Amino acid sequence: MFDYLIVGAGFAGSVLAERLANDSDKKVLICDKRPHIAGNAYDFYNDEGILIHKYGPHIFHTNSKDVFDYLSEFTEWRTYEHRVLASVDGMLVPMPINLDTINKLYGLNLTAFEVEDFLASLAEPCDQIKTSEDVVVSKVGRELYEKFFRNYTRKQWGLDPSELDASVTSRVPTRTTRDDRYFTDSYQAMPKHGYTRMFEKMLDHPNIKIMLNCDYQEISEEIPYRQLIYTGPIDAFFNYRYGKLPYRSLEFKHETHDTEQFQSAPVVNYPNEQAFTRITEFKYLTGQEHKKTSIVYEFPRAEGDPYYPVPRKENANLYAKYKTLADARSDVRFVGRLATYRYYNMDQIVAQALTEYGKMVGKKRQEAAVAKAAVGNSNGSNTSVQILTNARLS
Ligand SMILES: Cc1cc2nc3c(=O)[nH]c(=O)nc-3n(C[C@H](O)[C@H](O)[C@H](O)COP(=O)(O)OP(=O)(O)OC[C@H]3O[C@@H](n4cnc5c(N)ncnc54)[C@H](O)[C@@H]3O)c2cc1C
Repeated sequence: MFDYLIVGAGFAGSVLAERLANDSDKKVLICDKRPHIAGNAYDFYNDEGILIHKYGPHIFHTNSKDVFDYLSEFTEWRTYEHRVLASVDGMLVPMPINLDTINKLYGLNLTAFEVEDFLASLAEPCDQIKTSEDVVVSKVGRELYEKFFRNYTRKQWGLDPSELDASVTSRVPTRTTRDDRYFTDSYQAMPKHGYTRMFEKMLDHPNIKIMLNCDYQEISEEIPYRQLIYTGPIDAFFNYRYGKLPYRSLEFKHETHDTEQFQSAPVVNYPNEQAFTRITEFKYLTGQEHKKTSIVYEFPRAEGDPYYPVPRKENANLYAKYKTLADARSDVRFVGRLATYRYYNMDQIVAQALTEYGKMVGKKRQEAAVAKAAVGNSNGSNTSVQILTNARLS
């Protein structure tokens, strides 16, 4: 008899498995329908011996000391500050838009003070900000919107920014300084030996058993357990009773090149001409030295694995209906980004899982409270600002 069956071996499921086993001496069975642990953060050495991220680049960043300290029990870190360039008008310019982006794009030599006025002169005032387009145009004007945002959004979401909630772009980062870091969080680092190794350590406990290639429905009748923790898609759990929750997916095209370096930045965004949105070169992220290099292209897709919840009001309403069903199931805990239909970064999911654990053990733990705060505070809070700007898509 297991105390818990945990569905999904990503951050949400693995953090809870670790806490329940290590801190509460519970017996846990964790299953995943994929052939590996670590969920979307899964990384592995490819045939050439280069460490790559199967589901696109995962860069760790957080403002939560508690989350960072917690994960530090399972990994050493490699300090890493992420940087992104965007290919616009035949040039590679820093993203998020900063002083250098503007100077390079317009052939100017403005100072930080002058660029503020310059951006203000481009901005088009808007009486009522309703859509994502309104948000951007009212801040940086139509030209930068067209160059950096419009086509990128259409590619990424299959929707025009004018069809997306204003909330999506309400925090578009535009910098008047030369700071070209992608994130500004206090902790920015990559697990020194990769994410999968970190997960292996997290799950390495005699009380934790792991079943891979296993949909929980195949075993939930066969294997005795007391409680279920579900980190898969919430609509699937309820057999799509109210219809499917819309997700945007990605197709990843991995390549290895017989050269030490492929591009001049870890990530280059392609907002306009190409069908893909960005190219990532993994060695920048991992620090690995190798005479070859591996890259990945990302092609947005309507169908495929669920990655990004589509931020539209009707989808939030649909999720609310599933949430009501979930709230009525006291025998199941719904945790993680698929079960809560929110695009959360990794640190936010760790915080969410630690908070959930705090609730389960009924202790008013300091770590749970802080972790909860971190869910709201992380400036990695993602959704579509990052996607729209292409500056903070992670
Ligand atoms: C392309 C991309 C890039 C990202 N980059 C970053 C980044 O740079 N930085 C960052 O902080 N965050 C990033 N994220 C977000 C990050 O991936 C998530 O925050 C994190 O993976 C969420 O963990 P999770 O456990 O909730 O979900 P997941 O990692 O998705 O894990 C859920 C698991 O449940 C399993 N599952 C589902 N249904 C079943 C079932 N019926 N039976 C058994 N198993 C099931 C799935 O196979 C999956 O492994 C990125 C996400 C994407 C899509």
